[in-house]
Amino acid sequence: MTASAKKYCEELYQRVVNRNAHEPEFHQAVQEVLESLVAVLEKHPEYMELGIVERLVEPERQIIFRVPWVDDTGRVQVNRGFRVQFNSAIGPYKGGIRFHPSVYAGIIKFLGFEQIFKNSLTGLPIGGAKGGSDFDPKGKSDGEVMRFCQSFMTELYRHIGQDADVPAGDIGVGGREIGFMFGQFKRIKNAYEAGVLTGKGLTYGGSLVRTQATGYGLVYFMDEMLTAKGMSLAGKTVLVSGSGNVAIYATEKVQQLGGKVVAMSDSNGYIYDANGIEVAAVKQIKEVERRRISEYVKQQPSAEYHPGCEGIWSIPGDIALPCATQNEIDDNAAKTLIKNGCQAVGEGANMPTTLAGTKLFLENGVLFAPAKAANAGGVATSALEMCQNSMRLSWTFEEVDTKLKTIMANIYQNTSKAAEEYGHKNNLVVGANIAGFVKVAEAMKAQGLV
Ligand code: GLU
Repeated sequence: MTASAKKYCEELYQRVVNRNAHEPEFHQAVQEVLESLVAVLEKHPEYMELGIVERLVEPERQIIFRVPWVDDTGRVQVNRGFRVQFNSAIGPYKGGIRFHPSVYAGIIKFLGFEQIFKNSLTGLPIGGAKGGSDFDPKGKSDGEVMRFCQSFMTELYRHIGQDADVPAGDIGVGGREIGFMFGQFKRIKNAYEAGVLTGKGLTYGGSLVRTQATGYGLVYFMDEMLTAKGMSLAGKTVLVSGSGNVAIYATEKVQQLGGKVVAMSDSNGYIYDANGIEVAAVKQIKEVERRRISEYVKQQPSAEYHPGCEGIWSIPGDIALPCATQNEIDDNAAKTLIKNGCQAVGEGANMPTTLAGTKLFLENGVLFAPAKAANAGGVATSALEMCQNSMRLSWTFEEVDTKLKTIMANIYQNTSKAAEEYGHKNNLVVGANIAGFVKVAEAMKAQGLV
């Protein structure tokens, strides 16, 4: 092996860009990981010789399929479905399904790639995958969503299984959609394979805490990180973008730990409530009524609504928890947050900070919890759901919550240890990429050229 690790990674990045044209989100995710891995490859040149990273950036399998369905007016609609099975070195493929009009191959690939490292960090035996569709559930009736989910599963079922590939939810896919998909899978297979999907309802094999897990896990991770630095969440002003499942339960947990969440958002705008967000009201609006966050100000006279979701980062706050979507904090938003005294950022969404934004946080001493580590609580609890399904029993809320807390504390410890070991103390971006990678790389090495 003559090429230096740095040159090797740069050339590999170029190949990824050429081979996956017009997929900027995937390029971004790969670039960040490859930059982190230089130090590991210098120490382990055998990973280059065995083509470990070259194999890692190429999905094991990619499936693209047509999803035809009939809307309420009787018209045929056609969407595109995806499942990218990225890596199965340490366990069956695992990762959510996203229904959003922005979904295309590049988004699913970036998410599937991230999932490899995140899932490895949980310490549980799950490989990396992601799926989705450009279907927009917003404004659709329950019947339309059901027919879409059934059609989606009519193709997807042949590619998944409780020991092969286990999908779950993501943006646009919650308990309702998982229920419809599980029903269709069961009907086609004529078997109660409970562990084939996670995020199921509690009456048919779901796990307690799964709904709360990503948000709670994020805050457990932040708590661990702040405590390690002699700080705490108590008394802190917190900005939480988004108002989906991750944002809602992150807000709830921040409040339980004594922090004050003053802002939340959706794709149209943000709300600001100096008294602290009333999370029960947000749950009612988003989870029950499925309406816009602007409804909140009609019920809470102390709150303000501002159109445009990016404005949330101009509010002064001690901690920012981006829980909406990818690249929602760019370098400008990062600069504003830093200027306003933000001390810590925790990524609840997947890759919510651009590379330039991340660099600014790290250079300015802002404690930065990267998504792969900080939002791993959701998929970790999915793995706990699979475990309960295999055993055909259910744990109590406290049992699952205690396991989740331990998992998040371990992720923090392993991530910060890896960062330090490879000469990047306090850089959890590098730490998460390395700690997640090493386990997968060792498993790939042991399993030969596959
Ligand atoms: N979509 C979630 C994530 O980004 C959860 C995936 C899962 O539970 O499989 O990690």
